[in-house]
Amino acid sequence: MHQMTLAEIARGLADKKFSSEELTKVLLARITQLDPQLNSFISLTEELALEQAKAADVRRANGESGALLGAPIAHKDLFCTQGIRTSCGSKMLDNFKAPYDATVVAKLAAAGAVTLGKTNMDEFAMGSANESSWYGAVKNPWNLEHVPGGSSGGSAAAVAARLLPAATATDTGGSIRQPAAFTNLTGLKPTYGRVSRWGMIAYASSLDQGGPLARTAEDCAILLQGMAGFDQNDSTSIDEPVPDYSASLGDSLQGLRIGVPKEYFSAGLDPRIAELIQNSIKELQKLGAVIKEISLPNMQHAIPAYYVIAPAEASSNLSRFDGVRFGHRCENPENLIDLYKRSRGEGFGPEVQRRIMVGAYALSAGYYDAYYLKAQKIRRLVKNDFMAAFNEVDIILGPTTPNPAWKLGAKNSDPVAAYLEDVYTITANLAGLPGLSMPAGFVDGLPVGVQLLAPYFQEGRLLNVAHQYQLHTDWHTRTPQGF
Ligand code: GLN
Repeated sequence: MHQMTLAEIARGLADKKFSSEELTKVLLARITQLDPQLNSFISLTEELALEQAKAADVRRANGESGALLGAPIAHKDLFCTQGIRTSCGSKMLDNFKAPYDATVVAKLAAAGAVTLGKTNMDEFAMGSANESSWYGAVKNPWNLEHVPGGSSGGSAAAVAARLLPAATATDTGGSIRQPAAFTNLTGLKPTYGRVSRWGMIAYASSLDQGGPLARTAEDCAILLQGMAGFDQNDSTSIDEPVPDYSASLGDSLQGLRIGVPKEYFSAGLDPRIAELIQNSIKELQKLGAVIKEISLPNMQHAIPAYYVIAPAEASSNLSRFDGVRFGHRCENPENLIDLYKRSRGEGFGPEVQRRIMVGAYALSAGYYDAYYLKAQKIRRLVKNDFMAAFNEVDIILGPTTPNPAWKLGAKNSDPVAAYLEDVYTITANLAGLPGLSMPAGFVDGLPVGVQLLAPYFQEGRLLNVAHQYQLHTDWHTRTPQGF
């Protein structure tokens, strides 16, 4: 039962082959049995799940339908869930029960999805390995000595290990696509503004975007359908109609123009990954796509720009955690300053503290022009590169990551080494563009992802290309041993 995709579950439920309650019980038991190896969940919401499953079964019995009605999912633990701990992977929020549901959570619940729990993540979504969580590192089900990617490593590991068919995640600089690549999943970061950020705890507000992590493009289409849409509570939400993402999955790729940036195949890329990317290009050519070499000349500046902008926004966003209104408060503060200092010093882990310091520095008088303003200018150049490229091509293709998943602890002493691994993903966040990662093969038994980028609001095109590719390849069907 646990091998079913969301699409298969929807058909099974519609055909009354099993009930949502039965399926939910099977998956909850599976999580209890197998998750101790992975640490992919921070909280299990068994009672809520069974309640939601029973309610979904009643709705189906009363004639309602819908792909998400009775479908088990989990939320990355930065989506606020009313009355349930929403920790953001941090000691700071270990005691925080959200007073309301995030829009994404409310929308998916209304569509009938069943919440099995909240998944582990890098603290405040800062990281690429899921090692900065206060709740401990998450393991990669493909090799338990390796990282699953981050910051949505819990969602990725859980879905890859077939503990559940799909989960929500967020992507500020790659945190949906990179863990998807590291665990053999399909993950989609939508256009900035497509999915509401209301109730999604902020890391870097101008870059954060929620999206689906699942095994197939078909399933990402189903989950995204339930998440996307205008929200008046989010001032950056965009009032654009949401297309039917499943309806365009079958479109032909005949004549599709795929751009391959020459900068992508530089020295930093593992040659074995480069070869798998070339194979995926050949596969898409067989389906009718036309390949064109393009250039993204400012790509080299994207990492330094991102690692100024993201910490700058984080330093501002995280000032709300002051030990006064919510979250961790130190014992016996001597005065207000002592309360702030010790609550924040105790509540935030080292990576979060590092980013707050870098961000506050970049924003401070005298340095603002040299760092923050400069970074914003680079951001515009990165966007302009994409705009020029999309005059010539329909999608851009390349690797999701320069290397496969590294060993746990391998980059702990060198944060910059981890930052450099984000080279292919962060440009989409700087420009606000949609991006998808899908399975493209294996290196030393570890999964490799191919990334597709599209113009604004062309999520449907990304899902269409990925679905067609998945109809003709079987990488995405491979299951990690032991799961
Ligand atoms: N690895 C990037 C960072 O640490 C991206 C994280 C994310 O997308 N949330 O900032």
